[in-house]
Amino acid sequence: MTDGADGEAETGGKVYLAGSGPGDPEYLTVKARRLLREADVVMHDKLPGPDIISLVPEDNRVDVGKRAHGERTSQEAINLAMVEHAREGKTVVRLKGGDPTVFARGGEEMAHLAANGVPFEVIPGVTSAIAGPGVAGIPVTHRDHASSVTVVTGHEDPTKAESAVDWEALAATDGTIVVLMGVTRLPLYTEALMDAGMDPETPVAMVERATWPDQQVATGTLESIVDARDEAGISPPALTIIGDVAGIRENVLDTLEPDR
Ligand code: SAH
Repeated sequence: MTDGADGEAETGGKVYLAGSGPGDPEYLTVKARRLLREADVVMHDKLPGPDIISLVPEDNRVDVGKRAHGERTSQEAINLAMVEHAREGKTVVRLKGGDPTVFARGGEEMAHLAANGVPFEVIPGVTSAIAGPGVAGIPVTHRDHASSVTVVTGHEDPTKAESAVDWEALAATDGTIVVLMGVTRLPLYTEALMDAGMDPETPVAMVERATWPDQQVATGTLESIVDARDEAGISPPALTIIGDVAGIRENVLDTLEPDR
């Protein structure tokens, strides 16, 4: 590492915070695909999947989503490793599923890189939050049905007072709600929305592994979706779409392709 003319630490290397898209490698951006081949190190999560990881030369792959002794690589260790590689002058790709700024700790990683004087670039990806509904025949907005869309985490317990998601406020909007990380807690947040006055007949859909060959969709209403989830055996990664737009799917199913 050398000191630049302005006294700032020069790393030589660079970090690309990149998204891999929802799963199908054809939804990788051209830019991400090029970087996966050219980078010295690719630090990836589990979500991008083997077909995408196989584009990376084997020696350059670092799986930071792997559970060693039941634990993932800690965020702190990932932050340190990114900086260390960059300081060695390497080009690093930090690869995440979907888009790197949507529930992917992209903000924390940017802050850490900035604090350490490491140049970085954000390479957007196709987020599952929009693409997942789309490939299942569900537009997240629609002139007649929804003029807004809110993407929330379903990971938090809605019955806890300190829950960061205000389900009561969400129940009061006419917009579409897309819940990521919300398979297990589905009964809790659907209940919270109904308690807050949302119509139990509101259409709901769940999409598991959108764009993967084994994509699965379950549909129902706020009241029935828990049973539909169980019947279809929906498991993570999956997202939940709540709102009138979720009902559009059944009107277009006849010609919606591919029929996964
Ligand atoms: N950065 C990612 C989201 C990471 S949070 C993005 O932009 O897509 C992880 C959650 O994303 C999963 O729990 C699931 O809710 C959702 N997810 C990611 N890929 C998915 C896919 N192919 N199909 C359905 N849900 C997906």
